[in-house]
Amino acid sequence: MSVHDFIRERFFPHMWCAGCGHGTILNGLIRAVDELGIRKRNLVMVTGIGCSARISGYVDFHSLHTIHGRALAFATGVKLSRPELHVIVPMGDGDGLSIGGNHFIHAARRNINLTALIMNNRTYGMTGGQFSPLSGLGIKASTAPYDNIDNSFDVVELAKAAGATFVARTTTFHVNQLSDLIKAAIQHKGFSVVEIFTQCPTYFGRKNKLGDAPQMLQTFKERTVPVGSPKKQEDPSLIERGIFVNIERPEYCDEYQKLLERTQEA
Ligand code: SF4
Repeated sequence: MSVHDFIRERFFPHMWCAGCGHGTILNGLIRAVDELGIRKRNLVMVTGIGCSARISGYVDFHSLHTIHGRALAFATGVKLSRPELHVIVPMGDGDGLSIGGNHFIHAARRNINLTALIMNNRTYGMTGGQFSPLSGLGIKASTAPYDNIDNSFDVVELAKAAGATFVARTTTFHVNQLSDLIKAAIQHKGFSVVEIFTQCPTYFGRKNKLGDAPQMLQTFKERTVPVGSPKKQEDPSLIERGIFVNIERPEYCDEYQKLLERTQEA
């Protein structure tokens, strides 16, 4: 197998804008899958709606392109019915933390063995650049032309608090770390979350005067540091990337199976 075998070439050219970070995430993901030696028939990708969700059309795994905010609900059903399959759930700001926020915290609380990728570009790209729960104070959006006054979620802190057993963060600039973290998340037994800062030059970058895609990538490079870096103490505004949580806890499908067996014995 090579990485090309994981691509559905008939769906290309892709719909993402020039410079969009989502293609880099697709690249990191299929490289991770290739390096893990997982067979295509053992992989399922479930997505909701949005620019990020189009990723499920471009991979030659079993794929479900479902409804907005419900990717984790569909993925939970797939995993419970076929727990031996790897289930990967890429989501944008809305799918993951807005309309899908409730599914996110409950999937984390259950510790079901899914790999959630939060493709965080701080905007709703597909629908025209509205602000999202990850946009942050003071940014401009098509629905916040005079600055956004909503606080944003911290994906890592939210996932930790909700009970996710693997939590990591990286960016589309750090391509090797991106692939390594996705690999680790897929291998983890339990609910794993990788937040990936990704650039939307078309809306978020343009409205906030952040420059073109290379300039946005340069910002990811300059404004993030490895977990535990002393630079974070010197400048608390820097954002850490790496693995924040990696623990073992009973997994939901295993516990469900045990429950079924106890019921049958009774
Ligand atoms: S609108 Fe933004 S997120 Fe959507 S494809 Fe274009 S650059 Fe990517």
